[in-house]
Amino acid sequence: MGKRKKIHLINDLPHIYELEDTMSFCRKYEHLYIWGNGETEQYLLKYFDICGIIVEGFVVAKEDDRNLDFSNIYRKLPVKLFEEIKDCPSAGIVIGSSEKLYHRIIPFLRKNNFSDYFEMTEYNRQGIVCQVRPRTREELTLEISLADHCNLSCQMCDHFSQLSDKWFPDYEQMCNDLRRIGTVFDHQIAAISFLGGEPTLNEHLIDYLKIAREEFPDAELIILTNGVELLNLENGKTGNLWKACSDFDIHIMITVYPIKIDYEAIEKKGREYNVLVEMSSNIHVEDLTKITKISDKHTMDLTGSIPPFYSVNCLYFNKFTVLKDGRVYMCPIAAHSDIFNKAFEQNLQLKEMDSLDIYSIESWEQIAEFSAKPVPFCRYCDLKHWYHHSQWKCSSKRIEEYI
Ligand code: SF4
Repeated sequence: MGKRKKIHLINDLPHIYELEDTMSFCRKYEHLYIWGNGETEQYLLKYFDICGIIVEGFVVAKEDDRNLDFSNIYRKLPVKLFEEIKDCPSAGIVIGSSEKLYHRIIPFLRKNNFSDYFEMTEYNRQGIVCQVRPRTREELTLEISLADHCNLSCQMCDHFSQLSDKWFPDYEQMCNDLRRIGTVFDHQIAAISFLGGEPTLNEHLIDYLKIAREEFPDAELIILTNGVELLNLENGKTGNLWKACSDFDIHIMITVYPIKIDYEAIEKKGREYNVLVEMSSNIHVEDLTKITKISDKHTMDLTGSIPPFYSVNCLYFNKFTVLKDGRVYMCPIAAHSDIFNKAFEQNLQLKEMDSLDIYSIESWEQIAEFSAKPVPFCRYCDLKHWYHHSQWKCSSKRIEEYI
């Protein structure tokens, strides 16, 4: 029984109000620079490119720093000496260096009577860099829906499961996709989560687990479930799920809802089969907890007017990559937007650039790059108005759960 990796934990997300302040600062200046010329500054340049902010160059204090070259991380940009830009009337500098260095940088600027600078907090600097840095193969994970519909009907589901028609992936397609993704990743990935909707409703679940384990001998493979069917599936129509989990080293993660399920019996079954079973009402926190399940509201902007600079505040960004029907999507919201559209007669549009065809790409690095910048669909996510909404309850199936 392997140990659980912490793949469902949410990393620190940059503060949204500081992102807004950063943008306001940048827009005030005709000539914008980033202080420093290192790895962090490369990722900040990438973030500003994402935001549509034109950066003219990096700025350094002394000639020696000019010779550093980290452009392989993202892209080349002129490196100027502070002397060259300090008298320019509309020059602004964003300082995103480590705060440890502020005691040198800020007095230097003040001594030169230069006050047009913006000090990023360490928290936001690290948060932005973490979000836009392409993941290594050891960090990459995939989510795969084995049933878009569910046997529960939760309000505000971020996979829109309570709104979905009965939907299973095509068997042949799913087998091929698992094989293909194995090849693309050269059989190494951090983790794959089988979820939904409710994945245990899929009668081919054991087949898929077997293929996934063959393709990824060392990855963490997880069934993310509400647990309702687990005890029945010891004698499932297509085999014993518990034995399969034991044979293929599959972990089971149960989201705990305030419904009647014999969680103790499930834990006991896990021990009997030597299968790691974990349960939590919030699978995104470090310490597993069975406190009351809270529903998060993922507010959508139906007009698609949200500027891209907000996207790094998204918990799904560069984190919950989805494989569906031969394509990789940034997140479950985009991947399942067709369910939302159908249920509420909306037209949130997915563009070609919202997903990658796994049969057209050559390597996993393309997935890592794809996931590390916003997709066009991000314009529909009103992240400023995402929040822990209320205690779990059944869905009203009304659009107000999302607007
Ligand atoms: S579309 Fe973009 S902003 Fe919306 S949930 Fe996905 S990653 Fe987040």
